[in-house]
Amino acid sequence: AFGDFLSKRMKKSIEKNMKQSTLHADNIKDTLREIRLALLEADVNVDVVKALIANIKEKAEGGYIEEGVKAHQQMVKLVHEELITVLGKENAPLNLSKKPTVIMMVGLQGSGKTTTTNKLAYLLSKKNAKKPLMVGLDIYRPGAIDQLIELGQKSNIPVFEKGKQSPLKTAKQAIEFAENNGHDVVLLDTAGRLQIDKELMNELNELRKSTSPSEILLVVDGMIGQEIINVTNEFNSLLKLSGVVVTKLDGDARGGATLSISYMTKLPIKFIGEGEGINALAPFYPKRMADRILGMGDIETLFEKAVENIDERSMQKTMKRMFMGQYDLEDLRNQLGQMAKMGSLSGLMKMIPGAGKLSETQIEDAQRKLVVFSIIMDSMTLKERREPKLLKSLTRKNRIIRGSGRTEKEFNELVNNFEKGKKQVMEMTKMMKQGRMPNFGG
Ligand code: GDP
Repeated sequence: AFGDFLSKRMKKSIEKNMKQSTLHADNIKDTLREIRLALLEADVNVDVVKALIANIKEKAEGGYIEEGVKAHQQMVKLVHEELITVLGKENAPLNLSKKPTVIMMVGLQGSGKTTTTNKLAYLLSKKNAKKPLMVGLDIYRPGAIDQLIELGQKSNIPVFEKGKQSPLKTAKQAIEFAENNGHDVVLLDTAGRLQIDKELMNELNELRKSTSPSEILLVVDGMIGQEIINVTNEFNSLLKLSGVVVTKLDGDARGGATLSISYMTKLPIKFIGEGEGINALAPFYPKRMADRILGMGDIETLFEKAVENIDERSMQKTMKRMFMGQYDLEDLRNQLGQMAKMGSLSGLMKMIPGAGKLSETQIEDAQRKLVVFSIIMDSMTLKERREPKLLKSLTRKNRIIRGSGRTEKEFNELVNNFEKGKKQVMEMTKMMKQGRMPNFGG
């Protein structure tokens, strides 16, 4: 995923010269050289690398790093701060104040514009409780409007289109339609070309003038590398963009070009696309990105994901039951269900600091085990899950193994894991009871 390459490379660089506990002129120089190489290898723009290294150097030598304290940590902190600055400091939110807010989506053909328009509309409807309207204006690429209609059906977002009619006219009618039908956001999916040409730019410019969009977002393909900077500058000089959306960062792009956008073009990255699915669009947070690059774990994203997907009431119920010493297989089953809702384990593990040490195979194993356990528990009766001691009965055990199509070894593993887990839960609640009584609500 995005940042992985740089993350690995950076860690290697920083650790290499950090065996000593304090930094001095010699190893500051060595470390900076390593970091410089790491950034260049990750395809970060040369100018950005120069500026970044110069800033780190100035602060490192200017007494930022104190003698005697763990140099490694201080260096990481310094690089972290400077990375955030280069990445644009803060998340740049959309300006949604106007009613309706017009968002103009522009970009080259194949950049992911249509897909991103749909993802963004979906995000706005889910997160901001907006009522978006998507408008199909790409009358040149065959099938473009049909694609938008199809995406809209899947995401339940209405699409306004008038076929081959002039995009200018369609856009105006769409905004009027939005005003009359309570749509508070209008997303214009404009035409793309394979290359930037005058005709396209003129059309987009006319559209901009007649629709006064609050946002003009350029969608760029993260796989095209340094070319991103040129494309962004060209679109920006003609259209005055409000931000950039970088797509396809789930691929093996090294990501360095993306890290250079904000510094090189002075435009904020507002969102990043990391997959083809409708959920695969996330607001861009410079701090979280810097965390990821330096392997600090993307805790905030993880937390948000958890909060979004976990059914709070069922969690509270389980917590309360645990506290009463009533943890059983039904609770475990519910918890596994919640975990499944949060997405792939491997994705989640990557965001947990330290968990990066687990290999892909170990994570896959764990993931497979969770599936197997769920299947076995599905073959139990509710009574058996609530009273796991019933599972000591051989008839029951054999019935469950047969019914689930799993092995005895897997069954035993589940029971052992549960017993171990229950013991830990009991110890934890004992400790909590000795301390302050937590309030679980409900
Ligand atoms: P457009 O010509 O700019 O409108 O591009 P499309 O929206 O049709 O996207 C082109 C292709 O890129 C489609 O197959 C999309 O599914 C794919 N795509 C878009 N965004 C992403 C992304 O973030 N990750 C991946 N893997 N594919 C993407």
